[in-house]
Amino acid sequence: MTQYSALAVLRNALSGNTGWTRAWRDPEPKPAYDVVIIGSGHGVATAYYLAKEHGIRNIAVLDKGWLGGGNIGRNTTIIRSNYMLDGNTQFYEWSMKLWEGLSHEINFNTMVSHRGLYNLAHTPGQWDQMARRGNIMRLNGIDAELFTLPELKRRVRYLDYSPTARFPIYGALHQPRAGTVRHDAVAWGYARAADKLGVDIIQNCEVTGFLRDTAGRVTGVSTTRGDIGAGKVGMAVAGNSSLLADKVGLKLPIESHVLQAFVSEPIKPLVDHVITFGAGHFYVSQSDKGGLVFGGDLDGYNSYAQRGNLPTVEHVVTEGKTLIPQIARVKLVRSWGGIMDMSMDGSPIICKSPIDGLYLNAGWCYGGFKATPASGWCFAWTIAKDVPHEFNAKFTLDRFRRGVPIDEKGQGPVPGWH
Ligand SMILES: Cc1cc2nc3c(=O)[nH]c(=O)nc-3n(C[C@H](O)[C@H](O)[C@H](O)COP(=O)(O)OP(=O)(O)OC[C@H]3O[C@@H](n4cnc5c(N)ncnc54)[C@H](O)[C@@H]3O)c2cc1C
Repeated sequence: MTQYSALAVLRNALSGNTGWTRAWRDPEPKPAYDVVIIGSGHGVATAYYLAKEHGIRNIAVLDKGWLGGGNIGRNTTIIRSNYMLDGNTQFYEWSMKLWEGLSHEINFNTMVSHRGLYNLAHTPGQWDQMARRGNIMRLNGIDAELFTLPELKRRVRYLDYSPTARFPIYGALHQPRAGTVRHDAVAWGYARAADKLGVDIIQNCEVTGFLRDTAGRVTGVSTTRGDIGAGKVGMAVAGNSSLLADKVGLKLPIESHVLQAFVSEPIKPLVDHVITFGAGHFYVSQSDKGGLVFGGDLDGYNSYAQRGNLPTVEHVVTEGKTLIPQIARVKLVRSWGGIMDMSMDGSPIICKSPIDGLYLNAGWCYGGFKATPASGWCFAWTIAKDVPHEFNAKFTLDRFRRGVPIDEKGQGPVPGWH
């Protein structure tokens, strides 16, 4: 496999670009593997860390579609670790640390950009809450700054700061190390690195059921390309989690909802950071090509369709125009949707399932892209060692039964609100 480098680019430029090799193989499924991972989002990261950190190389990652066709390639690319609840804080900061060295580690430019993220505050109550969050972040060694209105105006000039605005801006909580990462490069980079370590990535291979022995242990999967045996099976299928778990008789505390993303026509550089407008459900960054990449809230109904509806488009662009009036005439050129696995407390599940041989990775809501490295790393640890790492020890399935949710937003058990 070609080692990507400036020299490789030069060498190939001089030889008509004929020397590049395939980034990953397209193997036929084998009859059995030590570990089968279902889903090629967090699944490819999991396979990579299983092979690299735990020496397990007889692995298949199965996906019903194409690599990167799920939420890993549909999100708005924001990474951050501005959490404040025990469990979330350590986990998301670990992910941020893994992002920092990722491109070098997997020899793939994932375009990690620490451009900073501003969470806008619009009420005195929100401002107090942000001060509390920022203090907790700093006590945990995570970067955070609180900006008053004059300082925010100096740094971010283009927002509507008028005191008569529908939601006047009070200030902002800023995380300087937060930013964006090119999402599909993450899927491709992890896939290439896992493939290099011997992992089979098998696309167009839908898991339709589970194989079990007489004791009930999961021993493999039925797929559209035949049965595949497995010592252990990991499930990382996002919005399809409840449907797939149902096939093994497991009921998950997860609802599936659509979340849409939008890209405008390219404009000159304006937004050189990420802005979130929580009061109005709008957030935005700008891609290197100039498009404003933005999103808002869930479509609000349960769905398994990877597309949304026009009222949400209208709602989100209206919020954008409220916050940044000068984008009123910018054209919207693309939009798409992804199926979110909304958990009852807004936090994920990474654990052994109650069924022997089956491991769960789900409940990412709309924040699982930034978790990709830590999710893969912790899921690999849990599958390899049969115990959670301390970073995912709180992300159990039975926390809902035991009544110890990790409710970062304090919204209660309403998955559509997290
Ligand atoms: C519009 C939008 C914006 C977002 N913005 C952000 C953001 O800015 N920052 C952030 O951190 N997060 C964001 N997210 C959330 C983030 O993208 C997801 O939480 C994360 O990518 C989930 O990863 P995953 O691996 O669990 O899911 P996916 O990447 O969806 O992977 C699951 C895979 O499982 C496959 N699959 C499903 N069923 C089966 C089956 N039966 N057999 C085989 N394969 C199957 C699917 O084809 C899919 O490829 C956003 C999501 C969306 C949709």
